[in-house]
Amino acid sequence: MLKTTKQMRKDMRKIREEDLIVCNKCGSEEVSEKVWIDSNSFVLIDGHQYSRVLDITSDDSYWCDACGVETTPLHIEEYRKGGK
Ligand SMILES: [Zn+2]
Repeated sequence: MLKTTKQMRKDMRKIREEDLIVCNKCGSEEVSEKVWIDSNSFVLIDGHQYSRVLDITSDDSYWCDACGVETTPLHIEEYRKGGK
């Protein structure tokens, strides 16, 4: 099990809205993707598990929970500029 370090807690605070990717259709932040995680490297924060990502999967697909379909996400700035 992973222990949170001072650096990890500092990095978590750096995640800002400008860093988000969103659904290209509806703009929702509820976008997920398939990844490989280190099964023994995780922390629980407020009941949610956070794990170290080792690699993305080869199928490269994203899912929008809001639309309920596969999506191609955009960086939030691109979405605001009307990019598709
Ligand atoms: Zn969507």
